[in-house]
Amino acid sequence: MKQLVIATQNRNKFREMKEALSDVGWDILPGYDFPGIPEVEEDGATLEENSLKKARMVSEFTRLPALSDDTGLFVDALDGKPGIYAARFAGENCTYEDNVRKLLGLMVGVTQMKRSALFKTVITLYYPGGRFRQVEGEVRGNIAMESRGQGGFGYDPVFLPTGSSRVFAEMTLEEKNRISHRGLAVQKAREFLKGA
Ligand code: IMP
Repeated sequence: MKQLVIATQNRNKFREMKEALSDVGWDILPGYDFPGIPEVEEDGATLEENSLKKARMVSEFTRLPALSDDTGLFVDALDGKPGIYAARFAGENCTYEDNVRKLLGLMVGVTQMKRSALFKTVITLYYPGGRFRQVEGEVRGNIAMESRGQGGFGYDPVFLPTGSSRVFAEMTLEEKNRISHRGLAVQKAREFLKGA
């Protein structure tokens, strides 16, 4: 079976992508299972740059096709913050809870009507030899007034996708994948994998 490495250290992202790619006919492997795989510094100025950097590095290291994802959360009332630096929003080595607390703290006093936000993912599919493709997925929604739910990761307890009464953390993996930024981007990447 053809092998595809998911270029991430994040077990939640890996789980979501493996689930979404379960029927494409590729063996889906986590990057973190390759001993000595270097950590990629996400120092690019865009999601596209960071996504490409991760996929290229992992493909060159493993000599296998690699798929990476870089995601940002853009909150309108905060002029687009946390943006592409969503992972370190509350500082180096912060937890998901620290980030959510900081986000909710900055939005105290922002009314329901003004809490709109966008999640965006850029996926890169990189093949040994240097050929690559990029696809993206976006979902609009609102930042909830407080944390809810037990599922997901990151900002899932406060992201309420448009048209849903539940935040991502209150959905199953399948439900989130059907409408999420990452789920939509993976659906596009699937088409390339199926044809490859
Ligand atoms: P990354 O740079 O692509 O690893 O993502 C940056 C940060 O965005 C992560 O550390 C999470 O805090 C957050 N994030 C990414 N994807 C999701 C998601 O699907 N739900 C909630 N938060 C996410």
